[in-house]
Amino acid sequence: MVSSQIKAIVWGIWLLIFPAGLLITYYFFPPQIAGQGINLFAFFILMFFVSVMPMVVNNTPIFLLQWVSMAVFLTFGLLVEMVMVQLAVIILLMKLKLQKHEFFRLPLNSLMFFAVSLASGLAYFAMGGKTGIDVIANPQYFWVAAAYPLIHFTLNQLLLSLIQYTVYGRKSSFFEKDLVWELVTSLITFPIGLVLYILYLEVGLLALLFVGVPFVSLSIILHLYYSSEKINDYLQKAAEIGHQMAERLYVNEVMDLFILKLNEMLPVDNAYILDIVDENALQLIYRVENGQKKELDLKPLKKNEGISGRVWFTRKSALFHSKKEWKSVAKEFLPDGAESIISVPIVRSNEVIGVLLLSSNKKRAYEKSQLMIVDILCSHFAIAIENAKHHEETKAKSERCALTKLYNYRYIENKLSEEFSRMQKGEKDLLSLIILDIDHFKQVNDTYGHQSGNEILCELANRLTNIMGNEGIVARYGGEEFVILLPDANKEAAMKWAELVRQTIANRPFNLRHHMDKSSRSRTVHITASIGVASAPMDADDSLALIRHADRALYIGAKRAGRNRVAEYVK
Ligand code: GH3
Ligand code: MG
Ligand code: MG
Repeated sequence: MVSSQIKAIVWGIWLLIFPAGLLITYYFFPPQIAGQGINLFAFFILMFFVSVMPMVVNNTPIFLLQWVSMAVFLTFGLLVEMVMVQLAVIILLMKLKLQKHEFFRLPLNSLMFFAVSLASGLAYFAMGGKTGIDVIANPQYFWVAAAYPLIHFTLNQLLLSLIQYTVYGRKSSFFEKDLVWELVTSLITFPIGLVLYILYLEVGLLALLFVGVPFVSLSIILHLYYSSEKINDYLQKAAEIGHQMAERLYVNEVMDLFILKLNEMLPVDNAYILDIVDENALQLIYRVENGQKKELDLKPLKKNEGISGRVWFTRKSALFHSKKEWKSVAKEFLPDGAESIISVPIVRSNEVIGVLLLSSNKKRAYEKSQLMIVDILCSHFAIAIENAKHHEETKAKSERCALTKLYNYRYIENKLSEEFSRMQKGEKDLLSLIILDIDHFKQVNDTYGHQSGNEILCELANRLTNIMGNEGIVARYGGEEFVILLPDANKEAAMKWAELVRQTIANRPFNLRHHMDKSSRSRTVHITASIGVASAPMDADDSLALIRHADRALYIGAKRAGRNRVAEYVK
């Protein structure tokens, strides 16, 4: 970063030198351009085209102005060249979309080009060069004219290095890759400048067409080539990101990765993913603002409402360059400072399943070509999300019992081992396990039918989860056996919970609706349960032992002692 002090100095020097410098140049080298208006304008147009079409190599735009500016200098003299180059600099910097903090590059470049123009012009005149001389008729001037671009080039490079060092604090070695590249392009363009100059003397404005058209065409071709290179690069990256997303098993992981990668490819300050929950609600499911995840407590949008609602409705991406363009449309919350917006429908099997909205605090941060890339990424994302959702659902199913919707033995055994390994790592001190078995449940089945037995199991499941709340994890361990994991309870606390559970079962009858006796509408049945309790680390040092010991307490301490009671494990 360039300090504001240096920026102020740059502006100061510019104000001090530039206007006065132009005036002095005008005084010593007054241009003889009477009646040349159209010619000057034609050269300016050529300069304009060359300026707006920089060749971009390794992300650095390279501006090949010199050949036009050289012809302008040789034809019209120093002042015209200076002014035209200055105009070109303004065009170039506009093309680069400078942000506010980079505005100092305007005086900086202006000064640099001014200095190079002046010094190489003076050198040309000192060597005996003249404005508008016919170098074919006077071959002795040819070499002076040929020397001009060399001086120009050398001065330009020296000044660039100087600026790199003084303003940006970079010690760039003089012979960098950029220099080689610039040298090569200059070697190609300087003869073109010379040819333009000579041809202009011979045939006038037609020369601009003869030389200008091929050059500008070449520039356009290179430009297109570079854009397609860039797009190839993007596509390759998109495929890679697609693969990475496909490997993620959880929806949140996929979303995190998606936003992270988008961030690496585009300037993103705020990112939102909205999910279509039903025909008329677009619900926020992911929200990052200025690098921080935020609450998802924003109101859902309706179809065709706001920017993303419209994207949903029209199934078309939206691109805005500044706040002015979307202010009247947006219904979604966007933080202050948001300017550019890109919003793309997330489509799966020809159906919009969500909407992505990205915004940047910079104006004109996104281009149309990026819209396509985001679009491709979104289709990778849609597939990855669907897979992750599917995986999450399957996993949830495999962890639950279909009848009671409680966790099953698979889940609880895993959970228990996890808790034990946390205990071994010293992350926690203790845990307890309650195991219960309904008394004489066979008889209940025999009396009221299997279906009624199931009803009891379901109601018991509800009662257990209601009592335990967040204090314990309830699971159906087997037929009519239930387990409660108390992650932070000691034996004493666990015994109290177990007693509460016993009473909740024994003191209140269970309602039956589907019993075999069809005559009465509903019927109640009293049941009881026997309960065993064991705690770690005092009763067991691994998860299977803990279950076994709780079970032992249940059979020996509770069932054998007459049922409907709680027993703790004793060695
Ligand atoms: P006790 O435990 O008191 O010794 O007697 P019990 O009759 O409950 O005996 P046990 O625990 O050995 O028998 C379990 C019975 O629970 C067997 C089966 O009829 C019944 N059962 C197991 N799973 C289900 C189920 O999913 N639905 C229904 N309705 N009954 C089940
Ligand atoms: Mg049993
Ligand atoms: Mg039983």
